[in-house]
Parts: sequence; structure tokens; C-alpha cells
Amino acid sequence: MAVKIVDACVSCWGCLDVCPSQAIYEGDQQMMVRADKCTECVGDYADPQCASVCPVEMAILDSFGIAFNPPGSLTGIYPEKLAMVMEQD
Ligand code: SF4
Ligand code: SF4
Repeated sequence: MAVKIVDACVSCWGCLDVCPSQAIYEGDQQMMVRADKCTECVGDYADPQCASVCPVEMAILDSFGIAFNPPGSLTGIYPEKLAMVMEQD
């Protein structure tokens, strides 16, 4: 049971200090998660703290590969709305 940080991460360092398990480290291209240390914050917080502070959509996935912050969840610009606007141009 561990979250995964993927290449949408912009290495803002926001998640690094909020992890109660010191599971996050700086990789070559982006932040990474040590799967053997990540607890998904169970027992410490109600929500995964890394995903709670992450300002980027699609950067952190749960153990099923589902983004905590899916497209539109932070910007309010949902994919359907974006597609409509693009079609108008
Ligand atoms: S889910 Fe919690 S324990 Fe896992 S990397 Fe994120 S902050 Fe750390
Ligand atoms: S908070 Fe999000 S964008 Fe920032 S370093 Fe962590 S995973 Fe990457």
C-alpha cells in the first residue's frame, strides 16, 4: 500500500516535508516515493498529506493507479469544459 508520484510532478518540494513517514525523496526527474515506507498516511492523517498539498493534477496516484487530484480538480477546468472551449476556437 503506497502512493506513487509520476512524471507530472514539477518537483516543487511541497510534499517532501509533510510526509509523516519520510517516504518521499528527490529522484533524478521528479520526487519519488519509497513504497516500503509509505503508509498512505493511515494512522497519522485522514488523507494522504502529499496529495493534499500537491498543486499539480495527476502527479500522485493511489495504489490502484488513480490520481488523487484528477484533471480539473484543482484548476476547475474539467476536460469536458476544456474540449468545448477548444472546439470554439
Ligand atoms: S501518502 Fe503519506 S506516507 Fe505516503 S508518501 Fe504521501 S505523505 Fe508520505
Ligand atoms: S507536491 Fe506534487 S508537484 Fe510538488 S514535488 Fe510533490 S508531487 Fe511533485
